[in-house]
Amino acid sequence: MGKILDGKAFANELGQNLKEKVKKLKEEGITPHFCVINIGDDPASKIYVRTKKRRAEKMGIIQDIYQMPADTKQEEVLALIDKLNADPEINGLMVQLPAPEQIDADALLKRIDPNKDVDALTPANIGQLWMENHFVEPATAEGIIALLKHYQITLAGKRVVVIGRSNIVGKPVAALMLEENATVTVCHLYTKNLAEITRQADIVVSATGQAFLVNADMVKDGAVVVDVGMNHVNGKLVGDVDFDNVKEKASYITPVPGGVGPLTVQFLMEAVVKLTRRQNGRE
Ligand code: NDP
Repeated sequence: MGKILDGKAFANELGQNLKEKVKKLKEEGITPHFCVINIGDDPASKIYVRTKKRRAEKMGIIQDIYQMPADTKQEEVLALIDKLNADPEINGLMVQLPAPEQIDADALLKRIDPNKDVDALTPANIGQLWMENHFVEPATAEGIIALLKHYQITLAGKRVVVIGRSNIVGKPVAALMLEENATVTVCHLYTKNLAEITRQADIVVSATGQAFLVNADMVKDGAVVVDVGMNHVNGKLVGDVDFDNVKEKASYITPVPGGVGPLTVQFLMEAVVKLTRRQNGRE
C-alpha cells in the first residue's frame, strides 16, 4: 500500500517558519499585505478566498478581499488593479478565477504588476517560469514539487505524466518538472489512449476536475500519484483519483483533502512574503 504524501502536515511545518519570517519583518516595520479580487458569486471561489484569508491571518499577513458584484464591468476591475498596483502599501494582488462571462480574465492578469503578481500568472512571470529564471511560481505547482522533494522523491530522469494543461496548474507543473530534469508528457481531452500513457509514468499528476478519472488500471505498480483535483460528489470532496484502489498500487499518493490543497494556500502566502521582502530590498 502506498505511503501518504501528507500535504497538510508539510504545509503546517512550512507555516511555522513563515510565521517567524513575518514576525521578523514586522519588527522592522514591514507587514506583508495583499489583496484578492473576487468578482461574482461562484460558491467555490468564496470558499477559496475565505481559506486564504484564514491562512493569511495565521501567518500574520494582511489580506484584503475586494468582493465585486457579478455584473461588474471590465473597466472597473482594471481601474482597481491599477490602483492596487500603484499603492506602495500593497505588496501583492490576485484575481480569483473564474470570473463572470463579461470579464476578460487574461486582460486582468496582464494588467497586474509582475512585481506584485502573487499567483505568478502574468505573461512576464509565465515567461520567466519557462526560462527557468523565476522569482515566484504558481502556488500549486510549486507546492507539488516541494512536497515530492520533502519526501525525497527524485525527479531527475523520471517519467512524469501530467493530466491537464491549464495555465494555473498543468502547464506550470510541466515546466517545473522539466526544470527538475524529468521527462514530461502533458495529457488533455484530445489525448488518445490516456491509460496507455499514464501506465508508463513513474509519477502521475492529475489536474482535471474529473472525479475518479485515474483508476488503478491506469497506474503502474510503485508509481507516485499526485491528485490536484477538487470535486464534490454527493456532498463529499474527492480528487481526480480513485484513491482507495490506486493507493494499493502506488508507492506514494496524495489524499484529497489534505494533500495538494493546503500546500497551494501555503505557497501563496510564501509568495506574498517573498515579494514583500524583495520590494523592501531584503532579497
Ligand atoms: P481546468 O478546467 O482549467 O483544466 C482542466 C484540464 O484537464 C484541461 O486541460 C482539460 O483538457 C483536462 N481534462 C479534463 N478532463 C479530462 C479527461 N477526461 N482526460 C484528460 N484530460 C482532461 O482546471 P484547473 O487546472 O483549474 O483545475 C483542475 C482541477 O484541480 C480542478 O478540480 C480544480 O478544482 C483543482 N484545483 C485544485 C487546486 C488545489 O490546490 N488542490 C488548485 C487549483 C485547481 P483540455 O485542455 O483539452 O480541455
